[in-house]
Amino acid sequence: MANKIYDTVIIGGGPAGYTAALYAARAGLDTLVLEKLSAGGQMTETQNIENYPGFDEGVDGFTLGFKMQNGAERFGAVSDMTEVLSVNFSESPKRITTDKGEVLAKTVIIAIGAQHKHLGIEKEEELIGRGVGYCAACDGMLYRGKTVAVVGGGNSAVQDALLLSRICQKVYLIHRRDTLRATKVYHEPLMKAENVEFLWDSKVAELLFDKKLTGVRVENVKNGEKKDLVLDGLFISIGRSPVSSLFKDELTLDEQGYIVADESTKTNIPGVFAAGDIRTKALRQVVTAAADGAVAAHFAEEFITQYNS
Ligand SMILES: Cc1cc2nc3c(=O)[nH]c(=O)nc-3n(C[C@H](O)[C@H](O)[C@H](O)COP(=O)(O)OP(=O)(O)OC[C@H]3O[C@@H](n4cnc5c(N)ncnc54)[C@H](O)[C@@H]3O)c2cc1C
Repeated sequence: MANKIYDTVIIGGGPAGYTAALYAARAGLDTLVLEKLSAGGQMTETQNIENYPGFDEGVDGFTLGFKMQNGAERFGAVSDMTEVLSVNFSESPKRITTDKGEVLAKTVIIAIGAQHKHLGIEKEEELIGRGVGYCAACDGMLYRGKTVAVVGGGNSAVQDALLLSRICQKVYLIHRRDTLRATKVYHEPLMKAENVEFLWDSKVAELLFDKKLTGVRVENVKNGEKKDLVLDGLFISIGRSPVSSLFKDELTLDEQGYIVADESTKTNIPGVFAAGDIRTKALRQVVTAAADGAVAAHFAEEFITQYNS
């Protein structure tokens, strides 16, 4: 990799990264994807993606990630399994330091995603996909007619609870405070939903399970009282952490740490783009990440035309 200057280097091999790679490579750009784990990103954490168009029976996230990688490599994109440790966008070409050395790029597409915050309680990681989930828009349909709980009190928790109230028989909302933090506009429809029960001043103290989740032990944070809920599913909706600390000195981030970029995916630095879950946006899903990847590659191509002229 030493001394070579890539047209575009893509950081992250999830749906945004590999769609950007497909479009960039297909447009004839010399394209490198840097991925620290495996192709697919967050998709590899779910067994069935039912809302990505073209897969009428759904597709498992690992397979979709692999197909996205193959699709990009078919047109000449190169993948390197390496972690990006730091960046320097103040120079031209831009410099990216990985655990294998330095990479030079005319343009950079950042597609490193975001992670759902976890409760950090025992067995949580093992029960993901077996009753524990983080995305009602993704997995809510699996619980049609069943009993679920949502943990959280912000906008995403309230939106998740509302969505689930239309699908599930019963929804508990477990929140550690005595009022919702969510924007007022969401309160009324949720309060009106007859199948939603609020557990205020409460936290999940324990997950109950056999082979999969069977319920939760909820603790009142004011008086310490505990009670068990029998559940089919638990949605943990306490926020997301964008993986943006690498870029905090170079790029404009919002107060939550997302890279500020609109639909054009352009950041405050020319030639640097942010695609997928890492950028400021309303809906973080596979289809919107893929769309961002295509747009980012389009503007990277435009930038390179100017760079070379
Ligand atoms: C359990 C679960 C289920 C989901 N189900 C659905 C669903 O059914 N439908 C749907 O549309 N969406 C679903 N989503 C959301 C969807 O997966 C994300 O919106 C989407 O993957 C975001 O794509 P991305 O490319 O922006 O980021 P990511 O998928 O997060 O990919 C980012 C990639 O960057 C890599 N990376 C991070 N840091 C570095 C670094 N320093 N160096 C190199 N590489 C790095 C990561 O390893 C990762 O592979 C689900 C998410 C989860 C967690």
